[in-house]
Amino acid sequence: MENKDLLAIAQEFGTPIYVYDADKIRSQYKRLTDAFAQIGQLKINYAMKALSNISILNLMASMGSGLDTVSLQEVQLGLHAGFSPDRIIFTPNGVSISEIEAVVNLGAQINIDNLATLEEFGNRHPKVPVCIRINPHVMAGGNSNISVGHIDSKFGISIHQIPHLLRIVENTGMNINGVHMHTGSDILDIEVFLHAAEILFETAKSFKNLEFIDFGSGFKVPYKEGDIETDIEELGKKLSTRFHAFCEEYGRELALAFEPGKFLVSQAGHFISPVNGVKQTTSTVFAQVDSGFNHLIRPMLYGSYHEIENLSNPEGKKRFYSVVGYICETDTFGSNRQIAEISEGDYLVFRNAGAYCFSMASNYNSRYRPAEIIWHNGEAHLIRKQENFDDLLHNQKLISFHKKPETAPV
Ligand SMILES: *Cc1c(COP(=O)(O)O)cnc(C)c1O
Repeated sequence: MENKDLLAIAQEFGTPIYVYDADKIRSQYKRLTDAFAQIGQLKINYAMKALSNISILNLMASMGSGLDTVSLQEVQLGLHAGFSPDRIIFTPNGVSISEIEAVVNLGAQINIDNLATLEEFGNRHPKVPVCIRINPHVMAGGNSNISVGHIDSKFGISIHQIPHLLRIVENTGMNINGVHMHTGSDILDIEVFLHAAEILFETAKSFKNLEFIDFGSGFKVPYKEGDIETDIEELGKKLSTRFHAFCEEYGRELALAFEPGKFLVSQAGHFISPVNGVKQTTSTVFAQVDSGFNHLIRPMLYGSYHEIENLSNPEGKKRFYSVVGYICETDTFGSNRQIAEISEGDYLVFRNAGAYCFSMASNYNSRYRPAEIIWHNGEAHLIRKQENFDDLLHNQKLISFHKKPETAPV
């Protein structure tokens, strides 16, 4: 997908707008399956919270992907988009038992991440196969907001609780068919990941009826030049060899599952917004875009970096800018960015806007959430309209607090 295509889409469909390149999603999917080509039963379960448009889900299904879900509604969307329930895994955290039961009724695989829930579920439904989420306490990466395997994390059952876990399984007679971990979103060092995998293998030995081992995600993609990226090919080689050895020891070929979100969709996404104004202050030059953290919150929420380019004047002289939004709070997309000279009306593009961008968008400041486009076979397809005024009013009810006008004397 080229910049001229993005510009044409902005002009045809209006802005701000999200654009997803289907080929990039396909090539990332292929990279992952190629890296693990030695694995007989490889299951890629796309973590749909990254980007949940039903057409994106359908694209994933068409490639053979399954789904990783975190809410009942995600499971329902997955079914609606064409997934069969046996290709959906539900990995919630802190949800009610009734939500878990609703997902079981839809036929999806459940993954339980705390002992109290496991015990209650096992008592009520000893026959339903359950995957357990283990917290191996491995610190992956440095950002504690997106690193979820460390000791104080709310995710997973601690490896130190395995004896208690085994007791629950024995007492309830429940069937554990999978073990799972998800250490976080920043795997910079494969050795750290492999270390966590060893802990999972060790745990897996305690269960005789396993069908799969799920290694979660944490694959890092580059957001800016010089960023370290998870070496998928190297990980594929090392983990496959280790996995085969484990299966031999275990006595049976198991399926190997992953649940990548960011890896599959981050780089495929482009967010485009026009510039409403360029404002010189004593300390910087602000480029004010026609958007804000209502559309793309990651930079403000956890300091993530999105490359910003000027689509309208790509050859312009580079100058330093702070790119900000229109929300009535500080909403800086990037400060001190060198960008080709920006004029009012230029279109800026934010890269890596596929994962956790639209899916975190809101109506804050009573603004509409933007349209979404998928670029497929050299053509743009609208997969979500921009919202309109009716959407803002939807589900609201106006109660009038005005005094009734006094009836005029006859
Ligand atoms: C969010 C999440 C993922 C996906 O993480 P990425 O960093 O986007 O790949 C995978 N598994 C679970 C359980 C998650 O919560």
